[in-house]
Amino acid sequence: MSVLQGLTSQEAMALEDKYGAHNYHPLPVVLTRGEGVYVWDVEGKKYYDFLSAYSAVNQGHCHPKIVGALKSQADTLTLTSRAFYNDLLGRYEKYATELFGFDKLLPMNTGAEAVETAVKICRKWAYEKKGIAENEAQIVVCENNFHGRTTTIISFSNDPVARKNFGPYTQGFIKIPYDDIDALEAVLKDNDKIAGFLVEPIQGEAGVYVPAADYLKKAKALCEANNVLFIADEVQTGIARTGRLLATCGNCSCSDKNCSGTPEVKPDMLILGKALSGGVYPVSAVLANDDIMDVIRPGNHGSTFGGNPIAAAVAMAALEVIQDEELAENAFQLGELFRSEMNKYIANSKIVKLVRGKGLLNAIVIDDHEEGDTAWNICLALRDNGLLAKPTHGNIIRFAPPLVMNKEQLLDCVSIITSTLKTFE
Ligand code: PLP
Repeated sequence: MSVLQGLTSQEAMALEDKYGAHNYHPLPVVLTRGEGVYVWDVEGKKYYDFLSAYSAVNQGHCHPKIVGALKSQADTLTLTSRAFYNDLLGRYEKYATELFGFDKLLPMNTGAEAVETAVKICRKWAYEKKGIAENEAQIVVCENNFHGRTTTIISFSNDPVARKNFGPYTQGFIKIPYDDIDALEAVLKDNDKIAGFLVEPIQGEAGVYVPAADYLKKAKALCEANNVLFIADEVQTGIARTGRLLATCGNCSCSDKNCSGTPEVKPDMLILGKALSGGVYPVSAVLANDDIMDVIRPGNHGSTFGGNPIAAAVAMAALEVIQDEELAENAFQLGELFRSEMNKYIANSKIVKLVRGKGLLNAIVIDDHEEGDTAWNICLALRDNGLLAKPTHGNIIRFAPPLVMNKEQLLDCVSIITSTLKTFE
């Protein structure tokens, strides 16, 4: 019998525990099927997915159009490497650059790879365009950032779990507090070695910290004034998650169709991943205009799988779904509803301090100390009640359902969440 058939949850977890590296601490639930906003475990129990694979499954599980694109491309041509052209990559690049308003796209696979790519492009631009002396470029980043877990990226993280015993670290990064425009102004002042400012429009992993309404706009203006590249990491916030096609699109609350042409804050470099593929396949990208992207020449950067035909077909389908189904608008409307319903509950709650977020990227903060286990226990109880979510950083629970959710389902989820929370009051 195949090891893939007929496993109980306990057996599947025991296999991962024995044969897999322990680099995650999953909630004890073993999933075997997904459709739209739902997932099922191996015993057949149905759950609302309220994490969406960390915002990768914005378009819902196994979206037929995206899976269809994957299947038909898989039957035709899977991988050529970039040693040769393929007939899908250029079409995808044209589609995505027009949608997001940039001249060029550099295709990669994972979010961390795309962040690494942006760091490299920024440094090369600094030496070749800005005129910074070689090896002296600095990139400003924010405290409590999360940009992935490669060696360079953890070098500018301040999360001890991600960093400790992984040194020596990559040089060339300056950390400043998030959402602190004065700190950015101070660090840019009289420092002509700064090449870029890398920022998450909302700090998702840190606990869904939404900056002041004018923070990104002011930060972009400061970068422009100092000839510093504004690099937006929208791996988690992008692709309609926060109620707009991109979180850098301002407060217009429009659907992606209207929003994409007139971003409030236009990054010099845009980093995308996760839902760029609807969670069907690893696809990430860096977008920039020619004056920046043209520093990259053959051999400077690449990846065997980056820009492969399946990725290109899947990403195009995933972006079309976002537009066709007006998922940015849905995320905006349901996000308002979710926070207002949660706030009604929080008004009389002893254990939930607050709800915060934008669109359908939200978090509640549990009134427990950072290292307490109440948030974890609440997630276990939510699981028992048919909803899957996970704490991010101790006492914060992130709520990020697929954007294909409807109002009735969202209210059902609010009812599961609030009735579960009541048992902890
Ligand atoms: N950047 C941000 C803002 C993220 O949230 C993440 C992942 O959560 C990444 C980068 C890394 O993406 P990946 O896990 O695909 O490497």
